[in-house]
Amino acid sequence: MDSQNLTLSNLAAMEDYDPNSMPVEQARQLIKQFLSPITEYETISIQDAFHRTLAADVLSPMNVPPHDYSSMDGYAVRAADLTGSNKLKKIGSSFAGHAFDGTVGAGECVRIMTGATIPAGSDSVVMQEQVKADGDIIEIGAACKRGQNIRLVGEDIVQGAVVLAQGQRINAAEMGLLASLGFAEITVYRKLKIAIFSTGDELIQPGKSLASGQIYDSNRFTLIGLLTELGAEILDMGSIRDDKDAVRTALLTASSSADVIITSGGVSVGDADYIKELLDELGEVVFWKLAMKPGRPLAYGKVGKCHFFGLPGNPVAVMVTFLQFVRNALWELMGQHPKPVFTFQAICTTPIKKAAGRTEFQRGILTQGADGIWLVQTTGEQGSGILSSMSRANCFIVLPMEQGNVEKGSVVQIQLF
Ligand code: AMP
Ligand code: MG
Repeated sequence: MDSQNLTLSNLAAMEDYDPNSMPVEQARQLIKQFLSPITEYETISIQDAFHRTLAADVLSPMNVPPHDYSSMDGYAVRAADLTGSNKLKKIGSSFAGHAFDGTVGAGECVRIMTGATIPAGSDSVVMQEQVKADGDIIEIGAACKRGQNIRLVGEDIVQGAVVLAQGQRINAAEMGLLASLGFAEITVYRKLKIAIFSTGDELIQPGKSLASGQIYDSNRFTLIGLLTELGAEILDMGSIRDDKDAVRTALLTASSSADVIITSGGVSVGDADYIKELLDELGEVVFWKLAMKPGRPLAYGKVGKCHFFGLPGNPVAVMVTFLQFVRNALWELMGQHPKPVFTFQAICTTPIKKAAGRTEFQRGILTQGADGIWLVQTTGEQGSGILSSMSRANCFIVLPMEQGNVEKGSVVQIQLF
């Protein structure tokens, strides 16, 4: 289908589209077609750049290293001097930040420290462990290969080279790298604004006491953690009653200031009806029953230009659907180019019951056996309300659609948190 004509309503009419059993990968691809990255950018201090996204390629303004320098403590020499006699005269010193400003002539050498500039005239560094010093006379007890122990100008990065590409997420290494090139400021996309609210008459805020039938609203806090980690700007709208007018008001408020709305609850059959009616009125929406566990119902839509993700209410399902669908979509919207999250193999030390026909994301605890082999066990009971299972786990055990029961000792795919 031509992506320009793609709307959520004609998406729903696509032939190979089964809203009652949508494979995980297909849902990912369908959402992806609606995502266009934000384009507004701003210049910020590199100190504040953690988890922001580069809005343009960063070209190196300089060579790294900026001059030839020694990678050892020792003596800067001329390799040609060390073929016959191996005695040299020390004529000075070169320290990091304090270069020797003379020239090394035949039969001469300069004491040099790691990081110090290589003096003119010299071409190699002999490490101090290979040298006997007697006053200013230096005796060298090993062969010298021209250029040894020298890091050359531009060896790491040549001036003008692309060091970081547009879309790169800035982590600790990138912060240091930018600083090492002399950048005090950097141009990044503006933060993605994400409005969140929970839905449910049973929800009460932590810190208050529970009346009968009430539960604490935990999903919003899980989402705050997940979104903070992504570097998003969060508009926390609290929890909203299961009331059409209240949800309409919340959606309109959210869409007037956010790029994305993420809600939890109210998307299962029955409940879904009023969110569907509202989104049909204010924008558009598709509901999928995903062929996955946990996290079966998922809604994706638009309220005006604002993206809408309706996550299930069950606390584990919130995390699983967020990590499997929403996070990648948000990275795209932030201007990044997310790579598929990779999985690797481990031996499953517990048997797992599973029905074929849906992808399962079981919570696993990964350990390393004495022989270095990765071992994984489930966290036990896998109910989608058991949030402690996400806290105890350090990985998902990803069981593909076609997979049936897993026997103890079989190889399974692991996705680290
Ligand atoms: P729902 O999808 O609204 O039917 O909710 C499914 C289950 O998740 C119900 O047991 C809800 O009580 C629970 N739930 C919904 N929202 C939250 C929330 N914000 N925090 C914790 N549990 C929730
Ligand atoms: Mg509900």
